[in-house]
Amino acid sequence: QTINVENFCLNLIEEVQLFGTNQQLIKFISNGQYFRANLDEKLLYCILSNLLLNAIKYSFDGGKIYLILNSEPGTIIFQVIDEGIGIPLGEREKIYEPFYRGQNVENVAGTGLGLAVVKKCVERHQGEIAVNSEVGVGTTFTVKIPQKNIAAV
Ligand code: ATP
Ligand code: MG
Repeated sequence: QTINVENFCLNLIEEVQLFGTNQQLIKFISNGQYFRANLDEKLLYCILSNLLLNAIKYSFDGGKIYLILNSEPGTIIFQVIDEGIGIPLGEREKIYEPFYRGQNVENVAGTGLGLAVVKKCVERHQGEIAVNSEVGVGTTFTVKIPQKNIAAV
């Protein structure tokens, strides 16, 4: 069962966009290679919707948010980039723990479960997730999922 990853991303953005303000438009960037991939739609939904909702929740009006789709041989790469509050250095290991919430997000509602679930979903695909962040500048989450046959649509 393969899915059209590009279409999937565009549909997801349309849906998630409803949670942002008019000043928080999510931009989609891909390398232009329309491809199908053998990914579980529910898992991918869980991964990308949580990352995008976090990007919205932890950034301000006017901050840019990107979903970037890329591939290298044998791997499909998703990146969610925001220009939000950032994650302090000492917290980056803890954010995947269930119920962990950052010290700088106390006035933003949440359960702290999103990234714990995301990590499980990524691991189901034998993938990996990494975060890059600077406080007050923004955050980038990168998800890499092995993919034997990335085929053109
Ligand atoms: P929810 O269960 O509603 O997702 P949450 O967003 O607090 O609650 P996670 O998604 O698991 O929980 O994120 C854990 C913590 O990681 C957050 O509380 C926040 O401190 C930090 N975090 C996650 N994404 C971002 C981001 N894009 N920018 C800044 N901080 C983030
Ligand atoms: Mg969250």
